[in-house]
Order: sequence, then structure tokens, then C-alpha cells
Amino acid sequence: MANVTLTINGKEVTVPAGTRVLDAAREAGFFIPTFCHDPENPGYGGCRICVVNIKGARTLMASCVTEATNGMVVETESPDVVEARKTIIELLLANHPADCLTCDKNGDCRLQDYAYRYGIRESGFKGEKHSYPIDNSNPYITRDLNKCILCGRCVRTCAQVQERQVIDFAYRGFQTRVAPAMDTNLAESDCVSCARCVAVCPVGALNYANLAGKGRTYEIAKKQVTCSFCDAGCQFDLNYKGDKVVGVSAKAPGQGRPLCLKGRLGMELRYSDQPLTPMLKKDGEFVEVSWPEALELEDVLSKLKELEK
Ligand code: SF4
Ligand code: SF4
Ligand code: SF4
Repeated sequence: MANVTLTINGKEVTVPAGTRVLDAAREAGFFIPTFCHDPENPGYGGCRICVVNIKGARTLMASCVTEATNGMVVETESPDVVEARKTIIELLLANHPADCLTCDKNGDCRLQDYAYRYGIRESGFKGEKHSYPIDNSNPYITRDLNKCILCGRCVRTCAQVQERQVIDFAYRGFQTRVAPAMDTNLAESDCVSCARCVAVCPVGALNYANLAGKGRTYEIAKKQVTCSFCDAGCQFDLNYKGDKVVGVSAKAPGQGRPLCLKGRLGMELRYSDQPLTPMLKKDGEFVEVSWPEALELEDVLSKLKELEK
């Protein structure tokens, strides 16, 4: 494949023809922020936070969808680029809860990181804010659409990586939001709880319900493990706080096979400190019982048989 040579921030860079400016710049060691860009599903160009200055272009260009060409001269942090990025962040913050203190994404949130990088303490834009109810219907995934920045990564991941198409953009204008069909909650949708959408969400709109309140992101260490429940070889992350496993999370697309719910729950049981002895409620109190006693219960047996189908 032919190469092209361009200049980025004064540095000559040679990349294969067809490379996007974003990838060329990152390869050369330059920072460009992204919200909607997903290396597994490139070419969306929706959020515009990745704009750069290209000499001779009539406007700032989204680097994630612009091909590098021979002789191109690019600046990734010129004053007009920084100004545009600041405006985008301020617009997002104008309709965003100031919730970082208790948000489970604190410390691993791109909106927070970029606001910090560009020195934005608050938005200069004042207006209406959303007040959506939090969707806790799915026992594994929490959706807080008040924090959604409409980057669409979850929508594309569900459709193109997971091949489910459970969620999509609904409504128009200020009311636009990501929703399952008929704007129902996740539990009533065809969601299979793979959590790939959670793994790609750049902010705190999608979170693992099982990890809520278990530790700040910087206190959690991740260790990749391969599931041994079947021969598909799905990979996932054990989340450690200290030496204790506090939960299991999905790998982002491109970092391992999607993990089925059975595998994830099985691994959580296997690695966490949860009791492995069955508990039965007797006279209002949970008491330990033997496995034969637990399995003799009519509803347990029928539910296990249901799961086998
Ligand atoms: S999503 Fe990010 S910016 Fe928003 S409250 Fe959570 S940590 Fe803060
Ligand atoms: S958990 Fe999986 S199936 Fe459900 S919405 Fe997210 S990506 Fe789609
Ligand atoms: S829920 Fe997250 S990934 Fe989905 S559109 Fe909103 S911010 Fe993006």
C-alpha cells in the first residue's frame, strides 16, 4: 500500500494511504480528544471534539473522518481548535448533572478529563436540563440518561459488534435520547445484558450495577481472565479492590470476545466472597441449608430446568 507524508504540529509523519488524521496524529504521539470515535466502528464523526486545523481548509475538520493526504499541514491544538473544543465541552456541560462526587465513572470519564484539560469549571450556557428517571430495571446495567452525551457508541456497539440492535436514538432535538424500541426500559427489551455498551460508554451514563459503590475507578485493578464454562473462550475482567474481587466486567470491543451472562455471573460467583452455601428464608430469616434441601424446592428445580432450555 502506498504511503502519504503529512506534517502534524511541525513534525513530518508518514502513514499508509487511507489513514485518518486522528490515527496519524496519535501514532505520532499527539493528543486528540474523542467521545464518539470507536476504533472498532470508525468513521462516525458525530461529536466533533476531535476537530483539527488543516491548512487551506475552509473550516476545522473532524480528524476521525478526514483522510491524511500528501503535503497536508495539520495543527491539533491551535487556538481556534482549543476554542472549538471548549465550546463543545461547555455545551455538553450545560445539560449535565454536576455529579462527579458520587458518579461511579469519576476518574474514568472523558467529559471530566477534557473539562480538566481545557480548564472548564462550569458551562457559560444556561438552559433547560433533563431529569430522566434512572433505569435500574436490568439487574446488571444502570442507565442514567441525564449523563448521556449522545455519542452513539453504545448504539453502534450493540448493532455492529453485538449484532442485537436493542437500542437506538429516539425522539428529536433536545428530547433526543438513546432508548430500546418503544422507549421501554432495558429489562423489557431484547437486551441480553452482554454489557458491551457499558464497556464503551465514555461517561457515567451506563454503569455496571454490580460494581456500584464498590470502589472508585482508581481503587479498582483489572485482571483479564478467560471463561472456562464452555469452549468459546470469552474474556472478561475481574475487578479487584485490594485482594478482593468486587465484580466482573465486560471487555470493550476489540479487547476480547463478548462474555455471555451465564459466564459473567458464573465467574462472579466463583471469584467473589459471596456464600456458596444455599440460603433459605425461614420464619423471615435467611438460614443456610444443604444443596439437596435447596434443590428439592419445587420452584428452584423448575427454574433450573427453564435455564437449560
Ligand atoms: S459522567 Fe463524568 S462528568 Fe458526568 S458526573 Fe460522571 S464523572 Fe462527572
Ligand atoms: S447490554 Fe448488550 S444487548 Fe444489551 S443494550 Fe448493551 S450492547 Fe445491546
Ligand atoms: S449512553 Fe454512553 S455510549 Fe451511549 S450515547 Fe450516551 S454517552 Fe454515548
